[in-house]
Amino acid sequence: MIASFIVQGNLKRKAAQGSQIRAASGKTANQIVEEMLREHGVTGLSIEHKPGQLTDCYSPREGKIYLSDTTYNQSSITAIAVAAHECGHAIQDHENMLIYEIRQKLAPIAGICSQAGVWLAVIGLAVAQASSGGGALAYNICNLGILVYMGAFLFYLVMLPVERDASKRAYKDMKQAGWVGKDQEKFAYKVLRAAGDTYAIALASAAVTLLRLLTIRNSANRRR
Ligand SMILES: [Zn+2]
Repeated sequence: MIASFIVQGNLKRKAAQGSQIRAASGKTANQIVEEMLREHGVTGLSIEHKPGQLTDCYSPREGKIYLSDTTYNQSSITAIAVAAHECGHAIQDHENMLIYEIRQKLAPIAGICSQAGVWLAVIGLAVAQASSGGGALAYNICNLGILVYMGAFLFYLVMLPVERDASKRAYKDMKQAGWVGKDQEKFAYKVLRAAGDTYAIALASAAVTLLRLLTIRNSANRRR
């Protein structure tokens, strides 16, 4: 939790700093999106403003790239880095990148798997505590919980390399096309890196939950 706090704080700070610096090219995030998609042969996507903060996202279902208040039509380093990152996802999709496809498949069930897995383990533990003879049942309920939770864990596991890859693509194109000045590249990288760190924290916290579920299962097992 403390690590998550620090990482989130760092991202907010870096993103806010970057949004105060105008990119040397003077191009807007919208122009960057058009250029980057064209460069990679991605067609048929539209750009839309989604009011709010951190609402930037690529929606394959709608065929849209949504840009938030601080990104849409903005020319800051943060706006350009964020827009290029979302294009990175569109390109992953366009190239049928395997881990991206896996993430997309897991995304709709990850939340449910995460909650249901934990609840099953808690129920398993309660069954173990309530009955001396219910040990085997409790153990199996816990195992089911772990299995269900794996759906969420896998999601976080593939999300990290997917996000890192999108940022890598963004940074490469940004440098090549000169969307930010030479002296601004380092800062743009820091913004992308700070965003990536939040996914590392999400994975670490999912790993901790998985370990907890295993501990609960083992304690139910001892009562068997
Ligand atoms: Zn992303």
